[in-house]
Amino acid sequence: MVQGSSTLIGDLVDKFNSYRSTCLSLQASENVLSPSASEALSSRLSTRYSHFDTGTGENSYGGSDIIEEIREESERLACEVFRARHAEVRPIGAHVAVEATLLSTMEKGDTFMYIGGKNGGYPGYQQEYLPDMLSLHSAEIPYHYESQEIDYDELDALTSRIKPKAIVLGQSAFVNEYDLSRIREIADSRSMLVIYDASHVMGLVAGRAFQKDAVEKADVVLGSTHKSFFGPQGGIVLSNRDDIINKVRKNLTWKTMDNYHPSRLASLGIALEEMARHGKKYAAAVVSNSATLGKYLNENGLGIRFPPWFSKTHQLLLDTGALRIRGLNTISFSKLMEKNRIILDRDGRIGTSEVTRQGCDDMEYVGELIIKALGNHDVSREVSDFVSSLNTEYW
Ligand SMILES: *Cc1c(COP(=O)(O)O)cnc(C)c1O
Repeated sequence: MVQGSSTLIGDLVDKFNSYRSTCLSLQASENVLSPSASEALSSRLSTRYSHFDTGTGENSYGGSDIIEEIREESERLACEVFRARHAEVRPIGAHVAVEATLLSTMEKGDTFMYIGGKNGGYPGYQQEYLPDMLSLHSAEIPYHYESQEIDYDELDALTSRIKPKAIVLGQSAFVNEYDLSRIREIADSRSMLVIYDASHVMGLVAGRAFQKDAVEKADVVLGSTHKSFFGPQGGIVLSNRDDIINKVRKNLTWKTMDNYHPSRLASLGIALEEMARHGKKYAAAVVSNSATLGKYLNENGLGIRFPPWFSKTHQLLLDTGALRIRGLNTISFSKLMEKNRIILDRDGRIGTSEVTRQGCDDMEYVGELIIKALGNHDVSREVSDFVSSLNTEYW
């Protein structure tokens, strides 16, 4: 019932907020906004437009000077945080950033290589999605799942046969770095581009705890601003190359998007300032928290892939073989955890970004809660007590 200022959806939002504030969030694709980034997102900017018309040299909308200042400052901050020559902060998601980048770097009929879905790659690169939509071809990068490594020799051989225009790196299930010097060598030997989709690891790249050489060695680094990064949902493109970034900028407005959502951009700007202040400490803590949690879980009955190192990122990947022995799969495991207010995805990933951002440094306790829940003990009360004890160290 809608009564006074209360509405049906408003009530559901309140309900969602109070529910999720009592849950332990271990979702690899998610993070949490600081109060000031959150406030910017719901500010008066959220219904505004700003669009700089290159034809007339004027903004098509009145009252938008401050919005453009926010955009320019956010770009400047992004360049600083990622040590990039250029940053484009308008894409409304990483998918849009990918779309604009592929449009800017490839011609119809060209081929790019990417890491396939069975190896943790992003489904959008599969032939039936972005490639078919953009009249491109995609082929898989040879990859050894067990060691989580690209087969560089095989890639070298394959590229001489397939002659792709670009090698697109990056995974959605992402635990190990690439040898970018080797990739660069292969790419340069055949004039190929290196595009690094860092969607998942953007916060770790910013904090220099993972793939420190991404911006320096790839032609383009792009990704989401809300996974391991501190921002609201959105995308970003970074490049040291003037020619590429200029084309990407031209492939945004009226091609892959229109409004860039000024409130999102302001919120991202605040997140970039937070990353400039806390990024290094945060990213190092995320990686160390993953290692601690991986070890604890694996030693206490929940199999985690790739012992003894487990992960160099914010993600742990569940050993589905070990789950099967318990009569579980990644979906039933996630549902069992959810009953205990432990939230993780149904693809078999455990993420440590959000708890780390909230200052958690006791990953063994987090592991203990998961193991108890796995043994069918109801820990929902302990989980919500634990969550309310977390602070906000990295705002
Ligand atoms: C999540 C993800 C995307 C899409 O990101 P959005 O910001 O949701 O559009 C693209 N690529 C990879 C590798 C991802 O993990």
